[in-house]
Amino acid sequence: MRFASLGSGSKGNGAIVQRDQTNLLIDCGFGVKETWARLRRIDVEPEHLDAILATHEHSDHSGGIAAFANRFNVPVYGTYGTLAALRGLESHLRHPFDPDASFDIGPIRIQPVTVRHDARAPSQYRFDCDGASVGILTDIGVVTKHVVESFRPCTGILMESNHDVGMLMRGPYPAALKRRVVSDFGHLSNEQAAQFLQQILHPALETVVVGHVSQQNNALDAIELAFSELAPKIRQFVIASQDEGTPWMELHAE
Ligand SMILES: [Zn+2]
Ligand SMILES: [Zn+2]
Repeated sequence: MRFASLGSGSKGNGAIVQRDQTNLLIDCGFGVKETWARLRRIDVEPEHLDAILATHEHSDHSGGIAAFANRFNVPVYGTYGTLAALRGLESHLRHPFDPDASFDIGPIRIQPVTVRHDARAPSQYRFDCDGASVGILTDIGVVTKHVVESFRPCTGILMESNHDVGMLMRGPYPAALKRRVVSDFGHLSNEQAAQFLQQILHPALETVVVGHVSQQNNALDAIELAFSELAPKIRQFVIASQDEGTPWMELHAE
């Protein structure tokens, strides 16, 4: 199994999890042409997609889902709450799921993970196949015990490290937006993210991609400082960008 970010941040998100011929697109916060171009960078064509999995309805994650799915006839999976908030998606492409139960697409088992975030019914995901386990975890206000337990098996993870608290508080955001970002229904700070990684760290966790990095309220050196003790313990530690995402991150634990 391998995964790649198509781009990560408040201007648009998308990630691919791939095993052999099975390709899952997690979120689509870009327009049709932009998504297509980003998929081409990693040699995935829209026709290769088996499903789009939505994490929640915020536009940086779901803004492009309906247009892309309708155009290429790709089924879309999400919680009842998320799909109810998705406008314009053709009804035969809607596949709501119960977040308490795992399900399979091709050889990949999908475990939805309920998180706290200011959306209707947000769900992040863990993908398991042949001993490898990929986690996708962004847009979460606080790390709960359920989240730690759900992502503990990961051998690779794309995880949010959104902001530096000091930069956010000194920065230009209006007070109400600052309160939203730091709340239990907002986003993870670098410190919260590093504490989470410490909790799920184990020898088989070989690849960590840090994403959803705020361009306004974070800096690469702040992230490097927060993860300075943990990053050397991980074979691949990468920061995903808004424009480039990441190349393929291969997992070898199979
Ligand atoms: Zn987001
Ligand atoms: Zn969000």
